[in-house]
Amino acid sequence: MVQIRSVGVIGAGQMGTGIAHVCALAGYDVLLHDVSVDKIAAGIALIEKNLTRQVSRNIIDHEAAQAAIARIKPADELQTIGATDLAIEAATENEEVKKNIFKALAPHLGPDTLLASNTSSISITRLASVTDRPERFIGLHFMNPVPLMKLVEVIRGIATDAPTYETAVNFARSLGKTTTNAEDFPAFIVNRILVPMINEAIYTLYEGVGTVEAIDNALKLGANHPMGPLELGDFIGLDTVLSIMNVLYEGLADSKYRPCPLLVKYVEAGWLGRKTGRGFYDYRGETPIPTR
Ligand code: NAD
Repeated sequence: MVQIRSVGVIGAGQMGTGIAHVCALAGYDVLLHDVSVDKIAAGIALIEKNLTRQVSRNIIDHEAAQAAIARIKPADELQTIGATDLAIEAATENEEVKKNIFKALAPHLGPDTLLASNTSSISITRLASVTDRPERFIGLHFMNPVPLMKLVEVIRGIATDAPTYETAVNFARSLGKTTTNAEDFPAFIVNRILVPMINEAIYTLYEGVGTVEAIDNALKLGANHPMGPLELGDFIGLDTVLSIMNVLYEGLADSKYRPCPLLVKYVEAGWLGRKTGRGFYDYRGETPIPTR
């Protein structure tokens, strides 16, 4: 097994910042990269804010938060990630984007560096195939928000070797997470079940069966879900929800996974949910207001 001391995180969005946060708190040195240098700085500032919130809630102490933030360094150039022991890709859910990142990173990798993708749905085997080390490539699917959610799905590609799997499971456990093993089929376990439910909620809205509020209240009060499905779609990011539906639709060749046209329209409008300020709710005021 490879000894992991340093972690490179590629993509400083919602997930990349969360992954960097938990890795730094667990004592790993972290390099954070994004295609946008501004996002790296904004990501580190957000991690600092979230660590401070954890201190104020007595979840961690001040010293731990200070030590964690000191362990996170910006990586303006992708190639510097190659020197870490484990590189975790958490960029936009798009196969070409991810493949291009791994291709660009490959020549700069140390001989023992392990590669992981946080993809929600894309084939680990296909992503691994563009690298020089498919046997040392694995899916590490963290949940959102990473500091709060206990699960990490671990997905082996067809070539992933046993030491890589063991190292990945031990690494996730060292972050205080529980792992579950999922086979490498479209959207794995969590999103195979969760995202079609969100898509169905959007169809329910599209067909006029209920309003945004009625649908979310129905699932919160009627099925005891902590968040309604439309609120959850906004929280995940509607671009990510659409990408996952497309991976399911194409990967399983079954019309039951067709993305709702209303979901497509929201994404085309750039109304991606919380991260852009508007989705099925408008988040720009004090309280979220349904947009339909
Ligand atoms: P996000 O939109 O918040 O962040 C994506 C980041 O990737 C952006 O900062 C973007 O600038 C960056 N990026 C795009 N192209 C890049 C490139 N070539 N190199 C480096 N950075 C690049 O998205 P997110 O919600 O953080 O999702 C990231 C990944 O995590 C996706 O694969 C997604 O499916 C997965 N995921 C998301 C959730 C969720 O609930 N949002 C949960 C689990 C896994």
